[in-house]
Amino acid sequence: MINEQDKNEAPLTIDHSRFTYPDSPFTPHDSRFTFDFIIVGQGICGTFLSWNLWKQGKRVLVIDEPQPFSASKVASGVINPVTGRQVVTTWMADILMSYTWGAYKAIGQDIGVDVIRQANIIAFPPSQQMRDAYDKRINEENSYIKPVPADKMALYAEVCYPFFGAAEIDPVWLVDLFPLLNGWRKKLRQEGGLMEDRFEAEHLSVHESHAAYKNLRADKIIFCNGINTFQLPYFKNLPFVFNKGEALIVDIPGMPKGNICKLGNSTIVPWYDGLWWVGSSYENSFDDSLPTAPFKQKKTQELEMNLKVPFTVVDHLASLRPAVAVERRPFVGLHPHMPSVGILNGMGTKGCSLAPYFAEQFCMNLIHQHPIDPLADVARFRRSLRQ
Ligand SMILES: Cc1cc2nc3c(=O)[nH]c(=O)nc-3n(C[C@H](O)[C@H](O)[C@H](O)COP(=O)(O)OP(=O)(O)OC[C@H]3O[C@@H](n4cnc5c(N)ncnc54)[C@H](O)[C@@H]3O)c2cc1C
Repeated sequence: MINEQDKNEAPLTIDHSRFTYPDSPFTPHDSRFTFDFIIVGQGICGTFLSWNLWKQGKRVLVIDEPQPFSASKVASGVINPVTGRQVVTTWMADILMSYTWGAYKAIGQDIGVDVIRQANIIAFPPSQQMRDAYDKRINEENSYIKPVPADKMALYAEVCYPFFGAAEIDPVWLVDLFPLLNGWRKKLRQEGGLMEDRFEAEHLSVHESHAAYKNLRADKIIFCNGINTFQLPYFKNLPFVFNKGEALIVDIPGMPKGNICKLGNSTIVPWYDGLWWVGSSYENSFDDSLPTAPFKQKKTQELEMNLKVPFTVVDHLASLRPAVAVERRPFVGLHPHMPSVGILNGMGTKGCSLAPYFAEQFCMNLIHQHPIDPLADVARFRRSLRQ
């Protein structure tokens, strides 16, 4: 939540020495070690921010420790313009549906892989109440909801029970996250812009005009390292939360290809090798980031109840989503009291749609001082960030 006093307050001066690590063996003025930007983390946020800055001709170094179960590697990659039991249109949906299509096509061209496609959701509501919500939206203009064509319905009726009919969400985009993350990583490596290593805060020193990390120097360092950003002294006072999400990877022979399917409370998304991603959960309270037996049992039972065909669970994934408490708007921009430190984070359940858009906005802010949407600008927390 925005602190009331944050709204109009002028930036405050800060004691930078509190965030300085004097042992940094920094080598000034050597171009091999000098960058415009260091970006920590190459999930969906770090990928789009580094790509935007690279397109603007900036010298960028991405420091990323490969972690197999980061949020971007466990996500299904769906960009869905509606949400919730009332099937309402999401925040900025019209802008984001248009923007993301172009952005993923463009980054795909630079890495030589098409990473976005249309995969409308065929939604089978779990109750009459939800069925009514879909019907109400079908009759509204620009609601993204329409009836399912009879031939498609017939295909699905062979594999699942349409207890309360179905509706189609149109359009829905599906992002291939693995080729995207791997493709951009390869490009960064070729350009000498990747350091595959764990970022360790004790080697960073932050100054008014630049940041120094080990023997590297950059005008700015931007944190895109998901949940780990909030361990840093600079951002630990932001109102962040972690949401745990799990998914099963399932073989469902006969499942119609090409669409995403919402079956009861499960979303069934095309995965790799002809398999299906079945999720998800949204837990605010948990012991660790590992897959849990209760989730597996619950989703398996749901599939047994809704599917007519046999299926096999072949894998089980879990991760923590970095999210923003209460207002659910991301953290974007430079630290209001430390101009050489920035953040792109807090995407919650919407990283695939929000990250590309806000990465470009942040890039334009860094280079041309264009404004960042005040609802997303991290400066809205300037008072909390002073502490
Ligand atoms: C089960 C599940 C399903 C989801 N489905 C969707 C979906 O369909 N659509 C959607 O839009 N969103 C979805 N999300 C949300 C989405 O995954 C997140 O919003 C998004 O991935 C967050 O991206 P990020 O770049 O901020 O963080 P991350 O993906 O966590 O990336 C952080 C990167 O930083 C690296 N890193 C971390 N610490 C360090 C360090 N100290 N040093 C170096 N590197 C470090 C990590 O290895 C990683 O590469 C889902 C999330 C989950 C958990």
